[in-house]
Amino acid sequence: MRFSGLKILTEGLKGNSGWGAHWRDPEPAQEYDIIIIGGGGHGLSTAYYLAKEHGLKNIAVLEKGHIGGGNIGRNTTIIRADYFLPGNSEFYSHSLKLWEGLEADLNYNVMHSQRGKISLFHSDGQRDAMIRRGNSMRNQGDDAELLSVKQLRKMLPYLDYEQGRFPIYGGLLQRRAGTARHDAVAWGYARGADQRGVDLIQNCEVTGIEISGGVVQGVQTSRGPIRAKKVGIVVAGRSSQLAAMAGMRLPIESHVLQAFVTEGVKPCIDHVVSFGMGHFYISQSDKGGLVFGGDLDMYASYAARGNLPMVEHVAEAGMTLMPMLGKARMLRSWGGIMDMTPDGSPIIDKTHIEGLFLNAGWCYGGFKAVPASGNCFAHLMATGKPHVAAQGFPMDRFRTGCGLIDEEGTGSQHNLH
Ligand SMILES: Cc1cc2nc3c(=O)[nH]c(=O)nc-3n(C[C@H](O)[C@H](O)[C@H](O)COP(=O)(O)OP(=O)(O)OC[C@H]3O[C@@H](n4cnc5c(N)ncnc54)[C@H](O)[C@@H]3O)c2cc1C
Repeated sequence: MRFSGLKILTEGLKGNSGWGAHWRDPEPAQEYDIIIIGGGGHGLSTAYYLAKEHGLKNIAVLEKGHIGGGNIGRNTTIIRADYFLPGNSEFYSHSLKLWEGLEADLNYNVMHSQRGKISLFHSDGQRDAMIRRGNSMRNQGDDAELLSVKQLRKMLPYLDYEQGRFPIYGGLLQRRAGTARHDAVAWGYARGADQRGVDLIQNCEVTGIEISGGVVQGVQTSRGPIRAKKVGIVVAGRSSQLAAMAGMRLPIESHVLQAFVTEGVKPCIDHVVSFGMGHFYISQSDKGGLVFGGDLDMYASYAARGNLPMVEHVAEAGMTLMPMLGKARMLRSWGGIMDMTPDGSPIIDKTHIEGLFLNAGWCYGGFKAVPASGNCFAHLMATGKPHVAAQGFPMDRFRTGCGLIDEEGTGSQHNLH
């Protein structure tokens, strides 16, 4: 089934009776060539690109819950390629290019909206840092524009420009940045993978990893053992737990990140905007809700719910920047479990166990990374060699200290940011 304008029209006339399920619901086979553990954005995109780019067929994605129930359906949907340093900058640049062709590639409307992201700055020092970042983005081949306060006042009239504490000095705009509907991204990749023969097995929790003589043999699951020649761990905030099943201790902490949405209001914010003097970012969903978030809750936890001090902290930052926010009623807040590595950047690598691969360490950048992460991890799993755009993400950098990436450009100890 392909989606098209004509199909929507004819289905509308037929009472929408001809739409089928987007993917099958197969029973797990006894053996696969490749098993991907985790049916989130990264796991699904990995399976999709394994089938599409490498022509591999005998693949399963094992998901303990349902497709789209993890962080892929919980994030604030921001997509950008504004990273400062090599390692991350070429990777996110690769991802943004994949986003730009994604809907046509998947034949699926993921509501990708390149509405532009504006990062505000509030001091001379921050302006210098933003200019350097913008130059680095342009050197990478991506777009970046410096905006004056005069330009900002026209584009974002709702900000509080008069307040004395954090005066707004300007902003860095990336026009190609924006948002996408997060769960549609999971559904689109799931449908694309299924169409290429990948078995998507939901309600199938991996409970053990079988290894013999240093070679992976398969997995134990809540639906019985499944053998495999290659296994990829792609479970977002649960990476440490899955790696422990293979006897590995990862340089990762799991933290909660919360997000918030207000009741629907008329269109008022038509970009993604981030505050430079506190961690606060906001955009408006197509339904009208103001969607915003801030920092991680600063303690390690596997509870996918946050605490009230962080709610207060984020609301405070939002009110400082745009007091109009105080008039909107907050509808919902929720949390997701995120990996945090010491340098804030991911791991896309083989492990010391033959046939066992790891895609982990996704934190704030994990949604925008979905296309490139799957694309690069599929390349690694299929060819045994790192993709050129993901060469900066070996696990060994945390042992040797060589090649730490410094996600924010503020020093390599990300947990001190
Ligand atoms: C509140 C919030 C806001 C965010 N905002 C942004 C943003 O604006 N922009 C951005 O780029 N990123 C953002 N992120 C980060 C991004 O959402 C994540 O980094 C990314 O989604 C993680 O990868 P994933 O999609 O594969 O994760 P998930 O969807 O969590 O997928 C992992 C899957 O593994 C499954 N799993 C776990 N254990 C097992 C097991 N034992 N067996 C089988 N399956 C298992 C889980 O059920 C889950 O479905 C945000 C995250 C949160 C929580």
